[in-house]
Amino acid sequence: MPKTRSKPHPNISQVMIMDGQNNFPISWLNKQGYCEYSIYLENVKGIQLQPTLDMVIGTKEHARLETDFKKDAEPATFEEMLEASKTAEILSRELPVTSVHFGIRGYIDEIWMTPDEFIIIDDKPGSRAFVSSIHQVQGYCLAFKDTIRSFQDMIGGERRITAALRERGTNNIFWSSYFDNKAEEDIINLINRVQNLITGREDFIPTQNPRKCRSCRFKRKCDKKALPGSI
Ligand code: SF4
Repeated sequence: MPKTRSKPHPNISQVMIMDGQNNFPISWLNKQGYCEYSIYLENVKGIQLQPTLDMVIGTKEHARLETDFKKDAEPATFEEMLEASKTAEILSRELPVTSVHFGIRGYIDEIWMTPDEFIIIDDKPGSRAFVSSIHQVQGYCLAFKDTIRSFQDMIGGERRITAALRERGTNNIFWSSYFDNKAEEDIINLINRVQNLITGREDFIPTQNPRKCRSCRFKRKCDKKALPGSI
């Protein structure tokens, strides 16, 4: 497989240029659903803030789950996992996925590989299936689907992909859905919108919802904050 040529975007943080294509973190699909303008403030304008308490707790919880997982896990390559999952159920955490074609990359919190399907799980702090959270996990599904395209011989027959959201630190899967053609088409359209934001073909639109602004970590620095009573 040819090596991907990769370099940071000169003006937008967290964006890489891979083989000439802008590539952004899949977590941006979640931020985009909350407020596109927060991506602009953080990554284009370069406003740096301390992480919120929720972010710190989330990072610690991620690390704890990863450490617990590694206690009993056997290291294996991606190819070995795919091969073994033809006849057994395999679980992996923090699986890196990159789609140069769609220009997205990230880490899948947890993936179950079974002989019939791949279940892609994103852990969330609560148990509400926000549209933005669904978009994020669908982004992982798309990147994973693109990743396994070149391993089709190893996978054997068609295996469906399921997207799932789980309450962090529990076994509570509170939302799941097949990653079908409609979901794939919708998430590709959304990714194209984010790509257009990066290239400047479209504008970052601030939310009109003051409740979101009240909880936003950029509220003190934001010049587009929605005022109470505006919706
Ligand atoms: S304060 Fe409101 S408009 Fe500004 S970035 Fe945050 S959510 Fe968006």
